[in-house]
Amino acid sequence: MSFNENLDLFVIGGGSGGVRAARVAAEHGARVAIAEQSRFGGTCVIRGCVPKKLLVYAGRFKDEFESSRAFGWNFEAATFDWKTFRAKSDAEIARLERAYRSTLEKSGVEIFDDRALVETPNTIRLVNADRCITAKQILVATGSRPALANFPGCEHLLTSDDVFSFEKVPERLLFVGGGYIAVEFASIFAHLGTKTTIAYRAPRLLRGFDLDISDHIETQFKDRGIDLVAAATISSIEQMETGGFRVVLTNSEVLEEDAVVSATGRLPNTSHLGLEEVGVKLDFAGAILVNREHRTSIPSIFAVGDVVNRANLTPVAIRAGHALSDKLFGNIEVCGAAGPIPTAVFTTPEVGTVGLSEEAARQTYENVRIFRSEFTPMKASFAAKRSRTLMKLVVDGLSDKVLGVHVVGVDAGEIIQMASVALTMGATKADFDRTVAVHPTASEELVTMRRELAQATE
Ligand code: FAD
Ligand code: NDP
Repeated sequence: MSFNENLDLFVIGGGSGGVRAARVAAEHGARVAIAEQSRFGGTCVIRGCVPKKLLVYAGRFKDEFESSRAFGWNFEAATFDWKTFRAKSDAEIARLERAYRSTLEKSGVEIFDDRALVETPNTIRLVNADRCITAKQILVATGSRPALANFPGCEHLLTSDDVFSFEKVPERLLFVGGGYIAVEFASIFAHLGTKTTIAYRAPRLLRGFDLDISDHIETQFKDRGIDLVAAATISSIEQMETGGFRVVLTNSEVLEEDAVVSATGRLPNTSHLGLEEVGVKLDFAGAILVNREHRTSIPSIFAVGDVVNRANLTPVAIRAGHALSDKLFGNIEVCGAAGPIPTAVFTTPEVGTVGLSEEAARQTYENVRIFRSEFTPMKASFAAKRSRTLMKLVVDGLSDKVLGVHVVGVDAGEIIQMASVALTMGATKADFDRTVAVHPTASEELVTMRRELAQATE
């Protein structure tokens, strides 16, 4: 399909936010084109959420195989074949990429496999095609890329992008950083048999999450043989003649690793896009500044997703892209204010969290009540596995409103999705208490915690 440049919207970036915005705009009858310089689906589908979650599933079979013996199963030793997994995973990603492309085509979006730059507030330049296209509005949804530290030997650093194309499961891996990517991938590879270490500059993992979550994950990681080096990062990396790398940490510790994966945050993709030249304002980190309607300082240019560097999560990018096109081309305002943003960290055990941590709540609310439960879930107990589940409610003592729900355990992400409906509706602790439990489950604990922490630990 070609609109001969008479476009209503040109979208730069075929990831989560861009694809959703383009499709919804086209379904509202707008004339839309999209440019993607790499593969449709973007970070989430090609080198993020999806291939990562497939790896998480692959790793978790280890625990299942081990536990199954306690339930009466018997088999020869289970082995994992990385090449088989990778071939299947690559095929699945390619299928999803085709599905994204076909959805766009069916919605009538014109597709350009090209790098696009902003030439004027209403003009896009396609780099490879070397042509300009005009559009009434432009959406920048170019995502983010890994941030890399600078030190001697930093050229040896890998990022999460590289992990998916490993030729084999490494024997020794060092992750640098204590956030989502470091903990998720450390957990994955530890389950696949790699000797895994995480070095992080903060005193604890997952800074910003409830402290009970960090503590719980640290304990569980140590139990599973993951080495944690707190308050340290890398001084230098040197390639060894014998193969592998010699890594010197800032605490003078020396490690020998097969590979070092950097997971120290991400930077918005805004450089060399022509944005500042046309007057689009960026913040100190290079993120595009937008108002509540996703409009930049140039009225015809909008931005959504990681490129605005707010909550860098797929559902946030998708929601913003959808809402923008609904408003611009469907005259529809998103109904109701968004609730708190739930999130999951796909470690094993998994983390699910929504709302305020205890520490954040105490900064704002005078009277904070904590309900907390830690236990060995039935399946782990039966299999004599040292796997503990944590459930925690943070409650405003004055209004009785539940301010935060935190879960570490099996299916925490699934549990927290439902808990976030309750929080979005403004549920109180009394609402949780009058909710009938489902038994026997782990999540029933969330509606049966009656005693406050101070009383419970007496
Ligand atoms: P992207 O999906 O990155 O899409 C941007 C696209 O723009 C890219 O395809 C890029 O090639 C293209 N592009 C850039 N510049 C140009 C240009 N000039 N011209 C044309 N095209 C261009 N989030 C979750 O919610 N859950 C998870 O489990 C999760 N796991 C993750 C795991 C990893 C390893 C990583 C790195 C991220 C993960 N995320 C997860 C975050 C999530 O992937 C991002 O928040 C989301 O993809 C952002 O969507 P986006 O549309 O802003 O950008
Ligand atoms: P995060 O922001 O989660 O964590 C970055 C980590 O790197 C922090 O521990 C931070 O330390 C540390 N760090 C930052 N700069 C340096 C530095 N110069 N030297 C040493 N350490 C440093 O980023 P990730 O890269 O892990 O992930 C990027 C984003 O992708 C996430 O924030 C999230 O939005 C998204 N994502 C979401 C997932 C999900 O939803 N499950 C999974 C994976 C990614 P400190 O805490 O001290 O600042």
